[in-house]
Amino acid sequence: LRRGFGRLRRLPARLTDGEDIELLANVELTTELPPVHQSGAQGIGLLRSEFLFEGDMPDEEEQYETYAIFVRGMENHPVTIRVLDWGGDKGIDRLRALGYGMPEDGQMLSMRGLRLLLSHPDILETQFAAILRASLHGPVRVLLPMVTALSEIREAREIYEKVARRLRRRGIKLPTKLPPLGIMIETPAAAMTADILVHQAEFLAIGTNDLTMYTLAVDRSGALDSNVYSALHPAILRLIGTTANAALRSHRPVCVCGELASDPRAVALLIGLGLRSFSMTASALPLVKQMVRSLSLETCDMLRRQAMLVDDPSELQKLVANFQT
Ligand code: PEP
Ligand code: MG
Repeated sequence: LRRGFGRLRRLPARLTDGEDIELLANVELTTELPPVHQSGAQGIGLLRSEFLFEGDMPDEEEQYETYAIFVRGMENHPVTIRVLDWGGDKGIDRLRALGYGMPEDGQMLSMRGLRLLLSHPDILETQFAAILRASLHGPVRVLLPMVTALSEIREAREIYEKVARRLRRRGIKLPTKLPPLGIMIETPAAAMTADILVHQAEFLAIGTNDLTMYTLAVDRSGALDSNVYSALHPAILRLIGTTANAALRSHRPVCVCGELASDPRAVALLIGLGLRSFSMTASALPLVKQMVRSLSLETCDMLRRQAMLVDDPSELQKLVANFQT
């Protein structure tokens, strides 16, 4: 099997009718770079930066050095760096230290992701500066987490541009066109208004983990059985479809980077919904590629049509589980 995967690594993720699908990796630690290369990923679709903030607050230099390792290590393949996403299930102790009420205080949903960063612009400014400097080593894209409104993106973009001006004054030669600034689509609000948000977002990344949690009101940490917490729900399918259409119409790149993209059969359905880019744990990539190479657009579209007719989550899960090319 390993030998087979070695060969697969060099083959394109191409549908039987010739269209190429982009397969990217989700990462957190620099030690994940070798497995990412072995998987044959065409870039990093999601670099979760939370791990960098686990100890003391990292300064610009420390962050720059880490991001630069990823960017250089990916040898001209794109690296998508997501700015800090604290709140919900992430960074709870640190948030409490900053004086925020957290879940047991009844504030599970109030302060998190981009909203939190905009209330602490110093954290965001330092992180943007480090990312912009790292972008001098290769193609970088910058991703904003947990977006719910256009004004939040506009505000983040103003800070992004201000930080770039400041770096230029420090003598750092950034290109006139800064690395693209994109957004996570992981709240129902963002998915339903993706057609509006694209005015300020240069690319979209669909996070099915949080999108599922916030749409179904089910905790993603898995206290309940996995049939209840499943992205294969008619509501999620429609939200993904809405987002994909908004991206296609506005010619914005769109990628699915939640766990759903690690499920080869679900990827067939997502291709049917119009998606062409997926980011996943490196270990899942070979099986997804194998699936992609066995699919035609017609097969994917047929699965989508069947899926859109299903009226119950468990039936949808069954339909996808039983899908065969
Ligand atoms: C998601 O929510 O689907 C996602 C990719 O982000 P994270 O898992 O880091 O919350
Ligand atoms: Mg998320």
